[in-house]
Amino acid sequence: MARPVIAIVGRPNVGKSTIFNRIIGDRLAIVEDKPGVTRDRIYGTGEWNGVAFSVIDTGGIEIDGDDGMLRLIRVQAELAIEEADVIVFMVDAKSGVTNSDDEVAQILFRSGKPVVVAVNKVDNLQRMDDIYEFYSLGFGDPVALSGSHGIGIGDLLDAAVKLLPVKEDQEYDDDVIKVALIGRPNVGKSSLVNAILGEERVIVSEVAGTTRDAIDTPFEKDGQKYVLIDTAGMRKRGKVYETTEKYSVMRSMKAIERADVALIVINGEEGIIEQDKHIAGYAHELGKASVFVVNKWDAVEKDEKTMQNFTTTIRDHFLFMSYAPIVFLSAKTKQRLQKLFPVIDRVAEQHAMRIPTHVLNDIVSDAVAVTPPPTDKGRRLRINYVTQVAVKPPTLLVFVNDPELMHFSYERFLENKIRAAFDFEGTPLRLFTRRKS
Ligand code: GDP
Ligand code: GDP
Repeated sequence: MARPVIAIVGRPNVGKSTIFNRIIGDRLAIVEDKPGVTRDRIYGTGEWNGVAFSVIDTGGIEIDGDDGMLRLIRVQAELAIEEADVIVFMVDAKSGVTNSDDEVAQILFRSGKPVVVAVNKVDNLQRMDDIYEFYSLGFGDPVALSGSHGIGIGDLLDAAVKLLPVKEDQEYDDDVIKVALIGRPNVGKSSLVNAILGEERVIVSEVAGTTRDAIDTPFEKDGQKYVLIDTAGMRKRGKVYETTEKYSVMRSMKAIERADVALIVINGEEGIIEQDKHIAGYAHELGKASVFVVNKWDAVEKDEKTMQNFTTTIRDHFLFMSYAPIVFLSAKTKQRLQKLFPVIDRVAEQHAMRIPTHVLNDIVSDAVAVTPPPTDKGRRLRINYVTQVAVKPPTLLVFVNDPELMHFSYERFLENKIRAAFDFEGTPLRLFTRRKS
């Protein structure tokens, strides 16, 4: 079951890793403990008042470069925004509010994520007055801390845990595949829902209830449990429906967030427009498994090349999602509908796949031996090891001598090699580069 995530962001030296270590306590992994390396982990787990959560120390995501700090904290803030449910924004009582604190505050504010401001280095009561200026960051009451004295950690966790959402995916058991149907209006999402649920071998459970933005239908087919998360149904129930793109995209996003697999429904009669790309892009960004479903295939005039041509069109429009399989079908006639579920099962499995570290490293060492990283100003990237730290989507940490030397093209190359070996069909892969010499 996915734990809610707390991320710690802030300038270097405010005390992020000190607090991170205090929060995760003795859960710190022994295996990665090496002298001289202050940041062995960026992911940890903690528990407070009976709530289990994950913590990310974004200070461990290193990037070097001339434009160093600003870019660094921006990347960290973006990562936190993407991954976290609550963000702990750490600042330093000794230095007061700095320009880069303001910069981070703006990025965080725009994200709309809940934020707790943690003022560290409040080592004694005299310092308490220093926390008031941090109200100006705009996130309510700052919490005073001293990482080195271990003061205020409880207050911080009280504040952060209170803001954690009750994870919606805890509504369903782990063995349930959650499938969201997304796509712009009129592509046939509702028709597809009806077609799926109307199949003979589908056993629909009592509708468990609805959320504000989608209708969930749990069902079972050939012994596998699923939940369909349908964003189109609300309109059909006569609720007020807004046709603006922004609204339908927002709604799709919420459905995608709760899903394992996104079915990106495309109108085969009309082809692809910009809005399809936006919606698909969210599934990719949120790290979901994806399948392109080209609907209304009955209405398309076909010859032996039509399917291949449409495939090429999809590949051209969704360059970043070449991993996603394509299913052509008709919700209306149910033609080829039986092709859909084997694909859903397959991508769901790949999305949750875990590759043992030694197997992963065998593949990566082979790839590096055959095609070594290019040198950059006389320096060469050295990859020490790769390890998978998460599933859904599969997330890999690549430990290298200097993250700046990892270029996009080489990262792409590694990803391709990893995919060639393990497939990961239908799922995005996340690669993070970390320094470890
Ligand atoms: P990070 O770069 O934000 O992760 O910061 P670190 O956790 O590495 O801490 C930076 C420096 O601040 C280290 O020298 C810490 O010992 C020091 N530090 C951390 N917490 C406190 C604190 O509460 N009070 C004081 N005075 N120093 C602290
Ligand atoms: P939604 O807005 O995405 O939920 O789309 P609907 O399911 O309401 O379908 C929009 C229109 O497309 C309706 O008139 C459907 O009858 C039609 N439609 C849906 N699926 C198919 C299909 O497979 N073939 C054809 N020819 N029409 C379809």
